[in-house]
Amino acid sequence: MKTVSEGRYDYRLKEAGPPEIERIQASFNLMAESLRRTTSQIEESIKEIQIAKQQAEVAQEAKSDFLANMSPEIRTPMNGIIGTTSLLIETPLTSEQKELVQIMRSSGQSLVHLINDVLDFSKLESEKIELENEPVDLTTLIEETIEMFAYYAAESQIELIYFIEKRVPSMVFGDCERIKQVLVNLVGNAMKFTHKEEVIITANLTSRKTKSGSEAMILVSVKDSGIGIAEENLERIFDAFTQADASTTRRFGGTGLGLAISRKLCQYFGGSLSVRSELGVGSEFFFNIPVREVPLLGAIKPQHQIENQKPLHGVTCVLLTRYAALNTLLRTYLESWQVDVHTAKQFTHDLAAHIAAKAPDLVIADPMAMEHEENMKRFADELIQHEIPSIFLSSIGESSIRIDENKPPLIRTLHKPISELKLLKDAVSMVQRKRGIEISETKLRSRAT
Ligand code: ADP
Repeated sequence: MKTVSEGRYDYRLKEAGPPEIERIQASFNLMAESLRRTTSQIEESIKEIQIAKQQAEVAQEAKSDFLANMSPEIRTPMNGIIGTTSLLIETPLTSEQKELVQIMRSSGQSLVHLINDVLDFSKLESEKIELENEPVDLTTLIEETIEMFAYYAAESQIELIYFIEKRVPSMVFGDCERIKQVLVNLVGNAMKFTHKEEVIITANLTSRKTKSGSEAMILVSVKDSGIGIAEENLERIFDAFTQADASTTRRFGGTGLGLAISRKLCQYFGGSLSVRSELGVGSEFFFNIPVREVPLLGAIKPQHQIENQKPLHGVTCVLLTRYAALNTLLRTYLESWQVDVHTAKQFTHDLAAHIAAKAPDLVIADPMAMEHEENMKRFADELIQHEIPSIFLSSIGESSIRIDENKPPLIRTLHKPISELKLLKDAVSMVQRKRGIEISETKLRSRAT
């Protein structure tokens, strides 16, 4: 026994002597044999693990080398594209062309950010990341992010809607690029996995309890009406290089890195990222991050300043939209400006006649609520004829539904995704233009009499 315990598992006893002793010796030899076998298996496994470890280290090194080498290779031509768009924007362009170039530039920039993401992941894993703490305009951040997807939304006929709660501060301290990185990833995913209806982004102010009281948080949600995620995959998708199911890569591409980075970043911000989803119905990803407001005097956003809203007080408006979410959004904005809103879901000729007869102060119409382009044109003509101020919503790049903004004075197009400030400006300008017409007509009439 002493010999075996010293590691000589091949030691055996001679099986001889009285039967009881012989049996003990045989059992001892069996035990020694079993120990020998187990030990050699363990040694074998250790060898395999060591080889696997070496291979993993080599692969890790190769990955880091690849990332380090490839990133500048991709970044250089991308910077060329972005630089060129910056030059292009300085040349004489129509407002529409300018908008297109701006989108090109910001999309290019987001691609560069994406490349950086890959590098980031390595950094996040090794906890070598440093966050900025600069004043961030959350509304602009959300608007810029969403603008990047405006074309894709128009192309795939998805309503891209965002709503920022009034209480959300104008400026907070944070890392603008990192927050954008999370949002780009979530909106990108929502668009990728949605083929109908809408993607809705909301930002709300909340709070959470701390030891010393409570702290303000921003809760950002990205909700889609896409393919959804099965319950058993809900946590797995946050792992690096993991997708909900194998067919995802084939159908939608992607690396499976985005959510892993986003969750790690949210944790770095001091918050969290989670998901709710139902297969076939849609998903809602939401992150909350603690925020500290930048102390600014008079930091009320222009769209929330009463004097800017005043021209719309008591105005009657017919809202023609197909989807409930867009309707709710526009209604919320309009009602907050004390507009008297009447809603219709679907264009009909009767409705057009009714609107013409009632002559509301404003009509806001979504082409999605009109089956044919012809309807929209006729409706627009009718509104012009009756001098009813109107705003036609349009998707970027949809030239067929564009109305000549210069000719009819009381009609205007507003690009989706709808910005609260742009809507306010357009509505005020339309209503005031009409009043201008009315005033000048009254003047003319009083002069004639
Ligand atoms: P990628 O999109 O590059 O594959 P992500 O980490 O961003 O990587 O997402 C991981 C996986 O989570 C996706 O491949 C997809 O299976 C699932 N997923 C993410 N967002 C959504 C969504 N909005 N709807 C359905 N599935 C989603």
